[in-house]
Amino acid sequence: MSNQHASSGSNEIPLSRPDITEAEIEAVSAVLRSGRLSIGPVLEQFEKQIAARTGNDYGVGCSSGTAGLHMALLALGIGPGDEVVTTPFSFIASANPILMVGATPVFVDICPKTLNMDPALVERAITPRTRAIIAVETFGNPAHFDAYVQIARKHEIPLVEDCCEALGCALRGRACGGFGRIGVFGFYPNKQITTGEGGMIVTSDKRLAELCRSLRSQGRPTGEVASAGSVNWLQHERLGYNFRMSEINAALGVVQMRRLDEIIEKRQRVSEMYTRHLAGHPDVILPTLEPESVMSWFVFVVRLTTGYTAAERDRIIAGLQRHEVGSRDYFPCIHLQPFYRRLFGYKVGDYPIAEAVSSRTIALPFFNDMSEREVDHVCRTLDLMIKREGLSRG
Ligand SMILES: *Cc1c(COP(=O)(O)O)cnc(C)c1O
Repeated sequence: MSNQHASSGSNEIPLSRPDITEAEIEAVSAVLRSGRLSIGPVLEQFEKQIAARTGNDYGVGCSSGTAGLHMALLALGIGPGDEVVTTPFSFIASANPILMVGATPVFVDICPKTLNMDPALVERAITPRTRAIIAVETFGNPAHFDAYVQIARKHEIPLVEDCCEALGCALRGRACGGFGRIGVFGFYPNKQITTGEGGMIVTSDKRLAELCRSLRSQGRPTGEVASAGSVNWLQHERLGYNFRMSEINAALGVVQMRRLDEIIEKRQRVSEMYTRHLAGHPDVILPTLEPESVMSWFVFVVRLTTGYTAAERDRIIAGLQRHEVGSRDYFPCIHLQPFYRRLFGYKVGDYPIAEAVSSRTIALPFFNDMSEREVDHVCRTLDLMIKREGLSRG
């Protein structure tokens, strides 16, 4: 199995590693041999798989999760003057699409246990200008999604599910991707399944699905966009994009989807190893899970206890990296990113819980075939770096 992150011959344990088998390689080769590299049957198959798995009528494959969210907001008619409520504790791609359509993000703080938006604060953030809520299953945790659905329904605004970190998770038996009016998955190599690059919109709203298909392919007429041979191929009804997913990427996705249950189980197993090794560590807070949630592990993120500063956490991460243990600060708050500060004047203290959490997180190496020995090595190195930081504190 190839590993794009590790340098050969080292003992490096990467932060993530795609799980590609001979079956994926074979499927990609078959597409290459077929001569049909885009707009073909393999993407349609992948779209059907994702739609079925998430309880939706339609899947619209696209070039990335970001492109999918961009199209979702366009299809919902969101634009300048509109507000979209979302979380500041996420990868930046969950908020940027709001700016891409010219709307204004309205951040709300998170629940310190689940790391998803606090539903009471979502409710309070809604104004007459709110046109959507974008909710993220942070790190694959579906907590509060039933509450978001209720709030969206009450205020008659669409819930957009950014489920890019969450394929396979469920809340009270309801699969993620099925909560919102529209949902978006991402398939970058560190996600649960990968297509290299790619994304997928899911919805049961036929009009939205058709609009997204048109937006994905240069604004071609809805209902006509699938076929390059169709008479309307050079008719463009609206400003569109090229956000298509190739057959090559889709072939990867089809095989990864067939393996999804196996992949989720493997990730669950690795999360359990980490929990065993780190339970009871006095300085480490482990991810918590509500009993009604089935997590689909995207990454394994622990937190240092409240006594630690961001600078101390950063030195611990640097120490892990120096010892060839992949590690990162998932995620710096979106509102404190330089261009968000510039655009909206955000400052430290605006979203105190998200900031406090974000300043103490440490993402640890996490991939499907991680061994007990590797987990043990990561945990020992983490413990060593924490102890060293404590010593230098005096
Ligand atoms: C990965 C991710 C995305 C989309 O990422 P792409 O790289 O564009 O596929 C969007 N939102 C969140 C929360 C993500 O983690």
